[in-house]
Amino acid sequence: DARIKKQRPPPLVVSRPRDLIQESCERLVLSDQQLRRIMTLMEKSMEQGLSASKKNVAVKMLPTYVDAVPNGTEKGDFLALDLGGTNFRVLHIKLEGKETKMTGKIFRVPESIMRGTGEALFDHIADCMAKFMEENNLKDAPKLPLGFTFSFPCEQDGLTKGKLVTWTKGFKASGVEGADVVTMLRDACHRRKDIDIDVVALLNDTVGTLMACAFQENTCQIGVIVGTGTNACYMERLDRIPKLAGYVDEHGVTPEEMIINTEWGAFGDDGTMDFLRTKWDDAVDRESINPGQHLYEKMISGMYMGECARVVLEDLAKQGLLFGGHSDAISIPHCFPTKFVSEIDSDLLEDDDRTFQKTYQILEDIGVEMITANDCANVAYVCSLISTRAAHLTAAGIAMLLNRINKKQVTVGVDGSVYRFHPTYPTLLDAKIAELIVGDIEVRYKLMLSEDGSGRGAALVAAVATRLKEEKLA
Ligand code: BGC
Ligand code: MG
Repeated sequence: DARIKKQRPPPLVVSRPRDLIQESCERLVLSDQQLRRIMTLMEKSMEQGLSASKKNVAVKMLPTYVDAVPNGTEKGDFLALDLGGTNFRVLHIKLEGKETKMTGKIFRVPESIMRGTGEALFDHIADCMAKFMEENNLKDAPKLPLGFTFSFPCEQDGLTKGKLVTWTKGFKASGVEGADVVTMLRDACHRRKDIDIDVVALLNDTVGTLMACAFQENTCQIGVIVGTGTNACYMERLDRIPKLAGYVDEHGVTPEEMIINTEWGAFGDDGTMDFLRTKWDDAVDRESINPGQHLYEKMISGMYMGECARVVLEDLAKQGLLFGGHSDAISIPHCFPTKFVSEIDSDLLEDDDRTFQKTYQILEDIGVEMITANDCANVAYVCSLISTRAAHLTAAGIAMLLNRINKKQVTVGVDGSVYRFHPTYPTLLDAKIAELIVGDIEVRYKLMLSEDGSGRGAALVAAVATRLKEEKLA
């Protein structure tokens, strides 16, 4: 009855179903002991990734060839490209002292292009770039150094080349895995003949995030993204990277350290996390475009958090514990995006009387047939469990890196839509890291929102590369 549904739900009375729901959802609550086990296992996975002998590791630990952070003197004009989610951006960035001036344009990447051929994808990128350069009178100007933020795992053997290991986050363009993406970009520019580019750096978005943060805060040693996907990079000592033994750069110098792109999203792909994965995580993974891959990411990031919550709700409805057993509406894949989890979690934060207005509205909008006040409270409860688990799993990863770096003061640059827009995630993350690290938390770490690492960071990597080249030549 539509009229009854429209009524403001009465204040919450928690009753029996909640106990049963709590029981059903027990596995979504991770103890500190489990999180500490994750930390140990993840460090072990990372060591396998860094080792020279072990092949087919889950956590790839990719060298980035970025071995210095900005020193604040970087300046000049740069182009940056940012590909990694549903949008593609072209930016023109002017660095001068601590100032950055940026103009840019956002282009959509239609799903047909994300999943078409690699050539078509790079033609689209070149097309957007040409449009931007045209509009900003850059086409006939002298070539600007370009930083290419490509937010997927890339096996690099230098700063300007890298083979895509595997697509993530819903991309599936053919013929790119295993190919050098910088070459593909250059080829696309050559095909259209009207633009010429000078790629001086290929980088992951986490690296851009670390660099952009380091520009402001020289203690920054870790860059983390929690957005559509999740990943972290950190500054590692070269003597702890066996697979780079004997490495010298193009000037014959062995750097003391290098940023490693961990690609932690793939943690657990070898079964390491099975002890805490649930049947719901299996369901989300099974229905994804890359089953069996990036299992840690699928428990954390924005592309999956909503779907995780949805499959739990579907299961509870089918057990008769929600919506009077009506499960049709909630059974439609992807009808419950992560932004709903955020909105519902903010009901829990802001709504003192516990009327769950937003929760009610959302459930009604997706067409759930019978919604009681109890249902709203229980849906909010499930969402909070999923968000908390995501934050705690990320906390385990960050705490492990902080322990490994083991310095007195470390800043962690963080960016991504979940970190920025989810109401409780940042606080939950910070509080759990504090519990999981060893030592005196006051002096040990600080999370810092690192704004637009993918753009500014790309210019900074390009600038540092240019500066070092000039210094070494001098
Ligand atoms: C990719 C990473 C990227 C992260 C955040 C993951 O899916 O594998 O390379 O850094 O998403 O964008
Ligand atoms: Mg991005």
